[in-house]
Amino acid sequence: MKRLTFEPEHEQFRASVIKFMTAEVAPHVARFREQGMVDRELYLKAGAQGLLCTWADEAYGGAGIDDFRFEQIIIEENMRHGDIGFYINLHSDLVAPYIAKLGTEAQNGRWMPGIVSGEKILAVAMTEPSTGSDLAGIRTTAMDNGDHWLLNGAKTYISNGILADLVVVAARTDPNSRHGIGLFVVERGMEGFERGRKLAKMGLKAQDTAELFFNDVRLPKENGLGHPAQGFKYLARFLAQERLVASIGFMATAQTAFDITLDYVKARKAFGKPIGAFQNTRFKMASMRAELDALQTYVDQCVLLHNKGELTAEDASASKLLTSELEGRVMDECVQLHGGAGYMEEYRISRMYTDARVSRIFAGTSEIMREIIGRGLGLDERKLS
Ligand SMILES: Cc1cc2nc3c(=O)[nH]c(=O)nc-3n(C[C@H](O)[C@H](O)[C@H](O)COP(=O)(O)OP(=O)(O)OC[C@H]3O[C@@H](n4cnc5c(N)ncnc54)[C@H](O)[C@@H]3O)c2cc1C
Repeated sequence: MKRLTFEPEHEQFRASVIKFMTAEVAPHVARFREQGMVDRELYLKAGAQGLLCTWADEAYGGAGIDDFRFEQIIIEENMRHGDIGFYINLHSDLVAPYIAKLGTEAQNGRWMPGIVSGEKILAVAMTEPSTGSDLAGIRTTAMDNGDHWLLNGAKTYISNGILADLVVVAARTDPNSRHGIGLFVVERGMEGFERGRKLAKMGLKAQDTAELFFNDVRLPKENGLGHPAQGFKYLARFLAQERLVASIGFMATAQTAFDITLDYVKARKAFGKPIGAFQNTRFKMASMRAELDALQTYVDQCVLLHNKGELTAEDASASKLLTSELEGRVMDECVQLHGGAGYMEEYRISRMYTDARVSRIFAGTSEIMREIIGRGLGLDERKLS
């Protein structure tokens, strides 16, 4: 279905992003997957092309673009023509906003130019070995030691964990309050900051997911973001954008899987005719086409709402829930329609299938998304019982 939310300037921008992804990412995907991470230089190249944080202030090297559709295009074309393991979206749309929006002018001046140029790669560390969905249960602590914070704890499953130069870390600042959490910027090379294993995963092979350890890290007070006890509120505020970004990516991968499969079922023959000529194939493709078009329209609408500052936590959660679930169904059907080839790693659809399984887990599981949407309906056990 024709998408109505883009103007000619967006399409022009899209063409330049496709060119970048095709030239700088696609030819290296096999190597990135082999080495378990992308090259650091890829971020520098994306920065030089103006593809990191298009929204950032011109004073810090950004383009100052106040239109999320440009970020949407970068995410979509990275998924289609680049590689899902290149976490340009994590860098630009999930982590950088914490620094840009919560940071002081001095902090922005210190970090944003390197973030926009790609010299400083970003990660965010909330999840711990003992807690993920229940963020209020984190055990990492940042104790106020007068002129510095003393950071202790461990984080796990951290995307960009090996490559990151700056990590936004959630840590407990008030042991007496479940929600007494602050956000801190930990920098590469700080004493006591260690990286653990690069974790072996089912999919996302080009993405470096790692454990991080903080042993008596002395954090200057200037490395705290915003109020040291308001971290929980900040995380909630930024999670709507995180979930929208995730949805944009899930739709792009599902659309790509659909297109690959459409080509495949037209070419592959069984019983003397293309498998696309079987009614079963036609019906499956038709159902997917209809569902993808309907949900893409919803996501595009969410992007417009986000541009107006009106995207609610429930809207973003619904978007994340539905797109990740549809992506999972589409990947499964597309592997099935590829037959044995769908199970072979040399076929992109096989890799996309394993890459997509995590979509229903990270950035908040499907169950947590349902909780948020349900509570928005007033169906909250704490209030109803
Ligand atoms: C590849 C990958 C990359 C990641 N990147 C990052 C990152 O960069 N930074 C970061 O901080 N984290 C990251 N994560 C962590 C991710 O966000 C968590 O794994 C996720 O939030 C789930 O937390 P958990 O693993 O502790 O599962 P748990 O919270 O232990 O959940 C286990 C199961 O219980 C269910 N459950 C939990 N609570 C409820 C409830 N109240 N009601 C119903 N069901 C419930 C869950 O839905 C799930 O099915 C990443 C994870 C992966 C796999």
